[in-house]
Amino acid sequence: MSDAMLPASSPQIALAAGLRGELRLEEPLSRHTSWRVGGVARRFYRPADAADLVAFLRSLEPTEPLLWLGLGSNLLVDDAGFPGTVIHTQGRLGGLDRLGPLGLRAECGVPCAKLARFAARTGLAGCEFLAGIPGTLGGALALNAGAHGGEIWTRVRRVTTIDRGGQLRERGPADFRVGYRQVVGPDGEWFLAAELELEAGEPAACQARIRDLLERRNRTQPIGEPSCGSVFRNPPGDYAARLIEAAGLKGEREGGAQVSTRHANFIVNTGGASARDIRALMARIQARVEGQSGVRLQPEVHCIGGNLP
Ligand SMILES: Cc1cc2nc3c(=O)[nH]c(=O)nc-3n(C[C@H](O)[C@H](O)[C@H](O)COP(=O)(O)OP(=O)(O)OC[C@H]3O[C@@H](n4cnc5c(N)ncnc54)[C@H](O)[C@@H]3O)c2cc1C
Repeated sequence: MSDAMLPASSPQIALAAGLRGELRLEEPLSRHTSWRVGGVARRFYRPADAADLVAFLRSLEPTEPLLWLGLGSNLLVDDAGFPGTVIHTQGRLGGLDRLGPLGLRAECGVPCAKLARFAARTGLAGCEFLAGIPGTLGGALALNAGAHGGEIWTRVRRVTTIDRGGQLRERGPADFRVGYRQVVGPDGEWFLAAELELEAGEPAACQARIRDLLERRNRTQPIGEPSCGSVFRNPPGDYAARLIEAAGLKGEREGGAQVSTRHANFIVNTGGASARDIRALMARIQARVEGQSGVRLQPEVHCIGGNLP
């Protein structure tokens, strides 16, 4: 599905004095999610930098609904859109620096792949697994993203959070309850940046490991087709993909949404899928798998609006 098939971005509108970012009204979120679905956001803000984000948050009504959006690679936004303000971090909050001999500090809008390549190039090992995760650091922190045995939070030394009043705080891993694709932290705080602790590594060896992990992904996943990666969490001791395939659901369709024929825990948008199509297919998968194996699959993808399966 090409970008040309997506609705156009809405025009930028003038900002209040003191703000330096980019504000759009009624912005189609299908342009900003990897599934290429989702209705419009009432307001959509791309901050110029962290100071500008603080000023923007302070300018909002205290009851304004907020949604943080990185690369939209783990989000199912309803066709009705989001009735509030989206803060879009990708391509904006992008600071990335070495910090001491084994550390690095990155802002939340840095893509995971860029972070992994930067670490490898500068002789830091231990986050190569991030190279194939098509999200931002902020999204990875929010979900404890992981792959090939690695998880982001095992590398976090500390994070900077921001609340809706623009207040910044430094926090350590002990302030968060971290589990499999799940992170629970203080209410009303989002990730602005993180410091990671890595290991010394040979750049060439780290880069070779990245190439190897990406090749492995290309062999097993429908890369290049709009998806959100794994739709369901793996149940304890089993794999969602195995259960979905065993229930005969590979290739199953609902409107423009299809269970990938390559990887059964992926749903791909074959063109023109709606969030409703995807949710209906998710519900059918859950019912069929539960009927066959007794396991109720739980979504890994974050659903915004709509009735969750
Ligand atoms: C092809 C493909 C392969 C994938 N493979 C993997 C994989 O191997 N492992 C894995 O873990 N995931 C995988 N994913 C899922 C996804 O890439 C990760 O979950 C990623 O970390 C999401 O980051 P994002 O920036 O896209 O987050 P988004 O989708 O933009 O947001 C996801 C959630 O995080 C919240 N969020 C975003 N930024 C912030 C912030 N700064 N502070 C607080 N909350 C925030 C959002 O509000 C939302 O609730 C894959 C996805 C695709 C499409």
